[in-house]
Amino acid sequence: MAYTLRGDDACQPTPPTPLPLPYWVAISPSAANLIGLELNSSKLPADEAWLDLLAGNCLKVDQIHFDHPVATAYSGHQFGVWAGQLGDGRAILLGEIQGQEIQLKGAGITHYSRMGDGRAVLRSSIREFLCSEAMHSLGIPTSRALSVIGSKQSVRREKMETAAVCSRLAPSFIRIGHFEHFASLQNSARLKELAEMLIKYHYPQCLNTKEPFLELFRAICSSNAKLVAHWQAVGFCHGVLNSDNISALGLTIDYGPFGFIDQFQIDHICNHSDHAGRYAYHRQPQIMYWNMTCLASAMIPLMEIDHSEEESQALLNSVLKDFPILYAQEWQQLFRSKLGLRSEDENDVKLIESLLQAMHNSKADFTSTFRSLSEIKKDSKIQEIRLRDQFIHREQIEQWLHDYLLRLQSEARDDQERKVAMNLTNPKYVLRNHLAQVAIEKAQQDDFSEVAILFKILSNPFDEQAQYESYSHPPPPEMQTIEVSCSS
Ligand code: AMP
Ligand code: MG
Repeated sequence: MAYTLRGDDACQPTPPTPLPLPYWVAISPSAANLIGLELNSSKLPADEAWLDLLAGNCLKVDQIHFDHPVATAYSGHQFGVWAGQLGDGRAILLGEIQGQEIQLKGAGITHYSRMGDGRAVLRSSIREFLCSEAMHSLGIPTSRALSVIGSKQSVRREKMETAAVCSRLAPSFIRIGHFEHFASLQNSARLKELAEMLIKYHYPQCLNTKEPFLELFRAICSSNAKLVAHWQAVGFCHGVLNSDNISALGLTIDYGPFGFIDQFQIDHICNHSDHAGRYAYHRQPQIMYWNMTCLASAMIPLMEIDHSEEESQALLNSVLKDFPILYAQEWQQLFRSKLGLRSEDENDVKLIESLLQAMHNSKADFTSTFRSLSEIKKDSKIQEIRLRDQFIHREQIEQWLHDYLLRLQSEARDDQERKVAMNLTNPKYVLRNHLAQVAIEKAQQDDFSEVAILFKILSNPFDEQAQYESYSHPPPPEMQTIEVSCSS
């Protein structure tokens, strides 16, 4: 659904600013497929007009004409503090193709740009492109990235960089911040239109219920509770979980200073600017819950259409209190699968947590630790399990392996069958920061080959891909401390 609310308080007509001498940096064939875009033998759109469209230099291609590009208004909480009106400061919504909204990120100044230049740099565009598509391949709900288009146009950040435009797709880019926007304007009519639009196009199951708005709230809470459990299960840190970066569809959106954890630290902070660690790994579930409380507050006027103030709050609270339960269920299910467990045992949570504790204490690599669990057989001898080598605290992992082997033995599951299933849930390849960094540095020298290789590897994250084995390795010591901040 291309955002259908019109009017100054909802959006502003915004044509993209042309990008000088644009060129292809990357394109995702499967994202192209989503919108029926045909690629030629060089994996580029058969119709060259797409380059200009995705750079923001024209609004027409094939039979498609985007006659009403907009930037939308939203408000929200940033780092826990009410930030007032924000809005698409550098993303322009072109319109919709085959049920996918298409946005150009970095396409120039909008009404909501405030101090910024409305541009995105090549570095952050490549990171968003690779990570969106990698998350999709991991089976994690996300906005998709169609392309990155580069240019030699200079953009000032901490140093001078060049501009790029990342085009992204999602059935809707509505955020919690869109609700907070109309709530803060005390415009209940607009709030209602927004909620009805979301229900009509994305949550039709809420329509014929007794309390459609409450059901909408439940559905949004549920999809985001599941989403954050998925992040925890792959060691993904979003970095900026402000309420304007939380999707109403439960998608991962707004890739900025995100990171996949290498050496596991439960309180890992991926965003260099997040000094207090508000968005640290272990806080993500709580923060998502906090964002749902922001949504609940914004939705009170909708509930008050049919209920008293106290009733409205009680109803929303009754849904909110399910969030930790839903999250815990999803988390347990995901981590059980990661451990190759099919049945449920009352000690499983303890087993999972003690592995995470041992990993934390030994700074074990998140992705390769889980991946290597599938090599363990029910009758393995602890001393022969290679995983031990990744742990400085040997006695701790040996104790854990002892408990784990007993647990595996409690299930009538064939080792080989379990191994196959585990390797479909514990990825071998994730977008480690150092891999992205190498690809970015080459791209900054106009060599996009590493972006293409990473894209290919991360499109099949569960496959062995023996020729790319080194891409599954933890970063070398000198690349363990790459810093990523909000400046993008
Ligand atoms: P983010 O942290 O990327 O989610 O951005 C937070 C807010 O700042 C959003 O409203 C963005 O649109 C805006 N913003 C970020 N970068 C820029 C930029 N280069 N120019 C204008 N606005 C920006
Ligand atoms: Mg944002």
